[in-house]
Amino acid sequence: MRKKIVAGNWKMNNNLEQTEALLSELSAKLPDTHAEVVVAPTFVNLTTAQRNLQSSAIKVAAQNMHFAESGAYTGEISADMLMNIHVDTVILGHSERRAYFGEDDALLSKKVQAALEKDMTIIFCFGEELEERKSGNHFSVVESQLKNALFDLDATAWKNIVLAYEPVWAIGTGETASPEQAQEMHAFIRKTITDSYGADISDEVSILYGGSVKPGNAGDIFGKPDVDGGLIGGASLKADDFIAIIKAI
Ligand code: 13P
Repeated sequence: MRKKIVAGNWKMNNNLEQTEALLSELSAKLPDTHAEVVVAPTFVNLTTAQRNLQSSAIKVAAQNMHFAESGAYTGEISADMLMNIHVDTVILGHSERRAYFGEDDALLSKKVQAALEKDMTIIFCFGEELEERKSGNHFSVVESQLKNALFDLDATAWKNIVLAYEPVWAIGTGETASPEQAQEMHAFIRKTITDSYGADISDEVSILYGGSVKPGNAGDIFGKPDVDGGLIGGASLKADDFIAIIKAI
């Protein structure tokens, strides 16, 4: 059985006090669930989050990292630094990193390698832009994002990979992919992995959907057979909404 996951990407939101308040509300209200629950606060609040959640089932992830082990990379954070504070999960390839910070497939491939060398879990994000969907290129865009960053990996690496399909046109826009569109793409992604690595591996990879997931639409999206959970932005900043989304899985 594939793991179900609901992850909250807080992006550049929540100062220290807000982080503590949201985490204690989440811990108090966390329902019994078969899903893994993850939150990704900003770097400066990771240690606090890790401490506050020590006795909670909620896991902490980072939103990004650098590929080098250490060195002259002003402003950057390494995998070692994350592991040192017991953060063993990292989001890589988010469309905001690709769009605003010039992260391309080649760079992401290096980051993926670096995270795997430390045995980290990677939530790898990808997805097409609106124009690419309108022109019918969404499958080939997604396929090349996956192949360029992940398909040189050994088969054994896939146990550390979680995929997050996030169509760019659905992120923060209030417009979500329909459950059918999500299922269609997730099935395509799984088939693409099957073609290169075989069904044993592709059947085990959790594929999350991200893009305007809210309490009102989460159940329908999570109900699709190839959707194994969600990567939640805006709605993960409100405890009650995030809890409702966790309950929908
Ligand atoms: P929203 O849920 O705010 O659309 O953001 C999705 C996202 O980018 C999660 O990584």
